Amino acid sequence: MRDSFYLTDEQRQVRDLVRTVARGRIAPLAAQVDETDTYPADQLRRLGEAGLMGLHIPEAYGGTGLGVLAFCLAVEEIAWACASTAVVYLVQYTGGFPIVIAGSEAQKRRYLPRLAAGEITAAFSLSEPGAGSDAASLTTTAVRRGDRYLLNGTKAWVTNGSHASVLTLFATMDQGRGRHGVTGFLVEPTFPGFALGKLERKMGVRGSPTVAIHLSDCEVPVENRLGGEGDGFKIALRVLAPHGPPRRGTCGPWRSLDGVRVIDGEMLRERCRHADHDRRRPDLRRLWLHARVSGRALHARREGHADLRGHEPDPADGRRARAGARLAGGDGRRRRHADEP
Ligand SMILES: Cc1cc2nc3c(=O)[nH]c(=O)nc-3n(C[C@H](O)[C@H](O)[C@H](O)COP(=O)(O)OP(=O)(O)OC[C@H]3O[C@@H](n4cnc5c(N)ncnc54)[C@H](O)[C@@H]3O)c2cc1C
Repeated sequence: MRDSFYLTDEQRQVRDLVRTVARGRIAPLAAQVDETDTYPADQLRRLGEAGLMGLHIPEAYGGTGLGVLAFCLAVEEIAWACASTAVVYLVQYTGGFPIVIAGSEAQKRRYLPRLAAGEITAAFSLSEPGAGSDAASLTTTAVRRGDRYLLNGTKAWVTNGSHASVLTLFATMDQGRGRHGVTGFLVEPTFPGFALGKLERKMGVRGSPTVAIHLSDCEVPVENRLGGEGDGFKIALRVLAPHGPPRRGTCGPWRSLDGVRVIDGEMLRERCRHADHDRRRPDLRRLWLHARVSGRALHARREGHADLRGHEPDPADGRRARAGARLAGGDGRRRRHADEP
């Protein structure tokens, strides 16, 4: 019988290697990282030393090119040990993969080898205070002036934005053109006009910093434009939802968890019921199938992790918390009151 969950030997090796590093070197620090909002620099260094920072980067640029599944396995193992380290590790994909798929040769040579070696880290900056689920409505502008672009605006919720040496950042060259005006840039924090904004106080995963970024006539050299003018939204979608419909942020049935597509079966069923979709349509049949398969995989993994951890949290609590947070989007993850965890 065909089983699409079989792993190759290489993928198993990656999983086992990450498991060893994660359980031996990362898990013991996890509680402290979260309690003290500590950036997991040491943990990332260890992953880099083990050659695990370039799984998504082709060999020609210093990575191992083992693909998305190997990367997902690595994320899962790291997340078992420390959620903050896993999120920062994940963002290496959303920040760096746009360079793999849309970067010029010079951009690839400039950034990818250092990302693969773990010398630098990346971030992905699409969201804005008024542009979350509807990311195409972003208002940060880019205007070309000679050999550079001037960027103006405020970006929000930039995971790893305070530590990244390169940010894949999206701005519009013409708001009237909607998604067709969105253009990608590789922005370095040393560029004039770049300033870090406030650090979000989150309800968890606190070792993974999430910041705002202010751009005030931020000067980005033309050679740091990613792809052509107006190609940005397509690039962003290829990273966030490589095979599916547009992103629905952290909230829709297609949750794109920093590049790893996760389908929330419960929410999908709800949406299908309310939206009165025709389930005979092939694309929706495919969605249903995915939802069932991912539901089973999640169940199996939860059981596996429960064995390893020796306890299982009450799933109903998790469901209630997730539902509440989803309704508010990113806002639902903020800590506002002193008595919040
Ligand atoms: C911890 C954290 C880290 C993040 N890191 C990054 C990052 O690194 N880079 C980045 O670019 N972004 C990042 N984000 C932002 C994230 O992608 C957004 O939070 C997400 O896109 C949702 O946007 P929002 O928060 O503005 O919620 P909103 O878009 O305001 O959504 C709020 C609620 O309204 C619902 N809703 C929205 N539109 C509709 C509609 N048309 N019909 C019906 N319901 C709708 C949503 O489903 C949700 O339930 C991060 C967010 C968080 C919380």
